[in-house]
Amino acid sequence: MSLQLVDSHCHINFDAFADDFPAMLDNARESDINWMLCVSVDWETYPQVLKLAQTYPHIFASVGVHPNHTEGHEPDFDELLAQAQREEVVAVGETGLDYFRSSGDLSWQHERFIRHIEVAKAVGKPLIIHTREAADDTMRLLREHGADQCGGVLHCFAEDWRIAEQALEIGFYISFSGIVTFKSAPLIQEVARKAPLDRILVETDSPYLAPVPKRGKRNEPAYTRYTAQFVADQRQIPLEALAEATTDNFFRLFSTAVR
Ligand SMILES: [Zn+2]
Repeated sequence: MSLQLVDSHCHINFDAFADDFPAMLDNARESDINWMLCVSVDWETYPQVLKLAQTYPHIFASVGVHPNHTEGHEPDFDELLAQAQREEVVAVGETGLDYFRSSGDLSWQHERFIRHIEVAKAVGKPLIIHTREAADDTMRLLREHGADQCGGVLHCFAEDWRIAEQALEIGFYISFSGIVTFKSAPLIQEVARKAPLDRILVETDSPYLAPVPKRGKRNEPAYTRYTAQFVADQRQIPLEALAEATTDNFFRLFSTAVR
């Protein structure tokens, strides 16, 4: 049986792929990355993300505005909802809280996050969560606003087991990026070993955060395989088993994505 992996979070609409987009897709296919979810970060470039999903049956789209995005249009509930209802759009995000790159009065960031949660619940599609130096507030807002009703994923997981447990508790999934392969990440590796096999995903977050042995290079969906192999090794299971589980998990969570 051939291997089938999903890159559950990438930004292949970014300029980093402008020069070699077809080759990047070929590399992914050769590494058995059969599907990818291209994640929206702002209103201005969301149309590119949507276009990719309309052009390629194995690329899915999300709609959302990243918590650090401060310039450009702030879509209201109805604008987000209209896009989230599209069949190409399988998730709402990326959204969440980031106290590392934003500071001062962050009530706007909280309001934006809550608006995304409300849209995800209204449309019945899962949330893609970005959180940085804000895990407790992120989990609190998810609980207070009933995000267990729509579910979602903590993408590029960089927290510890305590936060992983809270995410699992509300039915969320945990997605591992190249960060899990770094020597400096023993706490994330612990989560990679302990999290239930039916609740984990793998991703690249490309073009950022390439896994070992590509660390420091431009990341691309093909490298999902290195992260998948690393997590499989941590769990002492074959790559095939990790691939089958994470792919099943992806299509269970993003239930409107057509396999
Ligand atoms: Zn991202």
